[in-house]
This record gives sequence, C-alpha cells and structure tokens, in this order.
Amino acid sequence: MRDTLVLNASFEPLSTVTLNRAVVLVLTDKAVVEQEHPRLRMRAAAVELPVPRVIRLCRYVRVPFRRQAPWSRRGVLVRDQHRCAYCGRRATTVDHVVPRAQGGGDTWLNTVASCAEDNHRKADRTPEQAGMPLLHQPFVPSPAEAMLLGLRNAERVLLPEWLAAGGAPVAGAGGVATAAA
Ligand SMILES: [Zn+2]
Repeated sequence: MRDTLVLNASFEPLSTVTLNRAVVLVLTDKAVVEQEHPRLRMRAAAVELPVPRVIRLCRYVRVPFRRQAPWSRRGVLVRDQHRCAYCGRRATTVDHVVPRAQGGGDTWLNTVASCAEDNHRKADRTPEQAGMPLLHQPFVPSPAEAMLLGLRNAERVLLPEWLAAGGAPVAGAGGVATAAA
C-alpha cells in the first residue's frame, strides 16, 4: 500500500497515512489534494478521484510537542545520502560508531552509513580504536525531515520541488519548514 504524505495547513510535513485514510480525509473535506499521482486514478462508488500523493489538512493542527524522529536503518542511509562515513564511497550498510558490543545503541548519533568493506574492517571497534575517523558527524534529523527520509526514494523524487528538498536536511541547510514558507 502506498503511503500519502500529509501536510499541515501550513504546508509543513506532518505524517504519512495509508491511501485509504488519505482518501477519507479528502472526501470528508478535512484535507485537499496537493499533489496527485500522474497516472493512477481510483474509483469509489460514483466518485472518481486522483490518487493523492500529498494531501494538506484544511485546518492547521497544532503540534505542541515534537518527538524525536524515529531511528531506522533506511533513514540513516538516506540521511547520509548512501555515502560511506569512512571513505565516501557508496554505502549499503549501517555502522554503529560505538559498536553494539561496547554498548552503542541504535540512535541517530551513533549510526552512520558505511560501505560493507569498512563496516567489516572496523568491526567491534570505535573509529578511534580502528584508526578510521568519520568524514562527517552524524546528526538527528527533525521529525519533518525524517518523514521525508522515510518516503521511498522514488516517491520522494516525484514530490513538488519545495518539498523534495528532503535533500536539504542532509546538506544541513534550510529545512523543510522554511522551504515551504
Ligand atoms: Zn567505506
């Protein structure tokens, strides 16, 4: 099931929902379609609808407390643009900076994208112990950034340009919310 990105009325990314949920939000006038799928249409009873890829809530939803973006291996790879933190070549694995064997956890700040070779070479050692300095420091993406990171690559590329600035957090510049302003 493809997910639909939900924007707040302020255009800030809020969450993703299932397609069914997105359609319900649109049909009940709680959201409008910001971007539709270029090819797919869906038919429900007498209505024909574009397949929403991005919807925006009609009413602004206050988000009083923004929890930290959930960690995921895929999120780390996308955050680091699939570049190995040790050699800069294409990364397909996630390395724990402080190895799990030494108590390092699955957190944004303790994980980096790594090529399989370097991951294997570093093994259960810290960068210092392995003599393998990080080319860049890992960072915690904001919830909005992480949401964009969570979208499949293909889906992300097809987003409107001001939203697809999911690349912005990786570059460390701007940010999604400001890009939408
Ligand atoms: Zn490498």
